[in-house]
Amino acid sequence: MIPETVDKIENLISEVTALQSEYVVRLCFKCKAPCCTRVHYLFSEKDILFLRLSGRKQRWRREAMTKKGCWFLGSSGCNLDSKSRPFICHRYICSDLEEEIKRGDPSVMDVLEAKFTEIGHLRSQLWSEYLDEA
Ligand code: SF4
Ligand code: SF4
Repeated sequence: MIPETVDKIENLISEVTALQSEYVVRLCFKCKAPCCTRVHYLFSEKDILFLRLSGRKQRWRREAMTKKGCWFLGSSGCNLDSKSRPFICHRYICSDLEEEIKRGDPSVMDVLEAKFTEIGHLRSQLWSEYLDEA
């Protein structure tokens, strides 16, 4: 059922965000070449579907993406709440961040990978459930 799948994805996103947060705070805020300044429009069809089915608004249009770097990057980081971000923003962990995480707790990367895989499966399941109901 769509609401249950949405709930599961939301919970897992909270978990992967929490697992990374102390390392992101430590490393990303002093990064010399932040990944968010090197990307543009990252939303996939599954991201858009998740936004819609979880009651979140799509507040932009692809053709409005004209500034350098991600449209949602503000002076103190990402302007979107964590569950409104494209999935790739959670999943992308650069090698420096990975090293930092492994230094802090070697088991965390495996836990993160397992949760990313689970989110990926649930996003595919959500897509099927949406098509079945359409
Ligand atoms: S994930 Fe890596 S590249 Fe992106 S801001 Fe953090 S340290 Fe920089
Ligand atoms: S949506 Fe947020 S986290 Fe993702 S690239 Fe843009 S600023 Fe960075």
